[in-house]
Amino acid sequence: MGTLKFEKPHAVCIPFPAQGHINPMFKLAKLLHFRGFHITFVHTEFNYQRLLKSRGPDSLKDLDDFRFEIIPDGLPPSDLDATQDIGALFDSTSKNCMVPFRNLVKKLNSREEMPGVSCIVADAIMTFTMQVADELGIPKVLLWTASTCSYMGYLHFPQLVERGLVPLKDESYFTNGYLDTRIDWINGMKDIRLKDMPTFLRTTDPNDPMVNFVIQQGQRAFKASAVIINTFHDLEHEVLNAMASMLPHIYSIGSLSLLVNKLPISGLNAIGSNLWKEERECLEWLDTKEPKSVLYVNFGSITVMSAQQMSEFAWGLANSNHNFLWAVRPDLVRGESAMLPEEFANITKERGLLVSWCPQEEVLLHPSVGGFLTHCGWNSTLESICAGVPVICWPFFADQQTNCRFACATWSIGLEIESDGKRQRIEGLVRELMEGEKGEEMRQRALEWKESAENAVEEGVGSSCMNLEKLINNVLLVNV
Ligand code: UDP
Repeated sequence: MGTLKFEKPHAVCIPFPAQGHINPMFKLAKLLHFRGFHITFVHTEFNYQRLLKSRGPDSLKDLDDFRFEIIPDGLPPSDLDATQDIGALFDSTSKNCMVPFRNLVKKLNSREEMPGVSCIVADAIMTFTMQVADELGIPKVLLWTASTCSYMGYLHFPQLVERGLVPLKDESYFTNGYLDTRIDWINGMKDIRLKDMPTFLRTTDPNDPMVNFVIQQGQRAFKASAVIINTFHDLEHEVLNAMASMLPHIYSIGSLSLLVNKLPISGLNAIGSNLWKEERECLEWLDTKEPKSVLYVNFGSITVMSAQQMSEFAWGLANSNHNFLWAVRPDLVRGESAMLPEEFANITKERGLLVSWCPQEEVLLHPSVGGFLTHCGWNSTLESICAGVPVICWPFFADQQTNCRFACATWSIGLEIESDGKRQRIEGLVRELMEGEKGEEMRQRALEWKESAENAVEEGVGSSCMNLEKLINNVLLVNV
């Protein structure tokens, strides 16, 4: 049977187990499946249970050549309705997932009914998988699910440490203006300050586990067969070009959403990756509103805020007098469930809708949406760019500060709210975005980016399509 084993390529796709990582990996898996790959998609047990709960068994139904498998994430059981602790997941996946993953690949290779595993496509922060690929002598491909600019920031963490910029000398450095230090020595990154770099550098601990984790994962990328980035050339060409001289094997293949949207309808359409149940009724509510009249507000799957900050957002929105659709996850407010005052609901009932989770990409593409108040997670930022919607940025952590800086200073589609933004400031920025001259300019710019994004996925000629082709032929199919 040995010769039959490789009659079809078989990619094992394993995302980091958080929403913003699962979505793009799932899209990449769909693209590879369409190109004839047998796919094994690996969830953690926790997320598998969440998907069953939010979307039902149909969302996880095995097709003949697209199958789901699970491994434990190594964390103790926790509430299925809440986001897992991300720091704990970084630590646990890197320490505990390698053995179950190796056993899983071994099990897959022992099955006669499917082709042998011919490549591993893992999240770029799940690099423990590379050892398993090495043991089998198959390509080890990483998917960086965030922006190239943030990746460039992460890849320079060793230099930040060498130059003595990190760790910070003491707590006073968080607030004494030190974070305004300009960083003008990273190729491809213009107008960057320390505070625009991924936030994990904001530590006084010389042995900070997150800094060590970032450095370790970044160093391993140099040994990967290829690194895929969910972006497109025109948007990030300066930083992509600069990165190509460090990591020659990078492939910008984005937006993965736009690429997937071009696939023909198949059995895979019913299968999804949202960990929360989508409240689709909000699309009907949007139908009742004027074009470009609704501000969409969503802080993604991980961001948490204080009850005070939530109240500032609520009153900023109420006082702006604009329509809004606001997704409030049950665990959005730190330590308590997210509650808004009754008075707020009364004032805004005509023009505001609250949901807990929505089909974001469809919302952003709805003609009634005129702006997006976002935490600047990369998927949200890219989805907004692809929909031609300008943003108000309230970055929370990790790469979001870098995305915010690029959205405001380089792509000219965003306005930033300070981390402790007060209601008057929020109200002012909402008005500026939805009715001001600057807002209109940003909307035009966003529409231009939307066009570039569409060009990048044009069949046969778009940069992202061509890169996908090269990746498949030059890297993923070498053993097949
Ligand atoms: N998302 C969604 N509905 C929501 C909130 C988020 O479908 O109500 C999706 C969104 O489209 C994006 C992902 O969840 O694909 C969030 O990823 P992002 O990188 O923006 O932020 P994170 O959750 O990782 O902070």
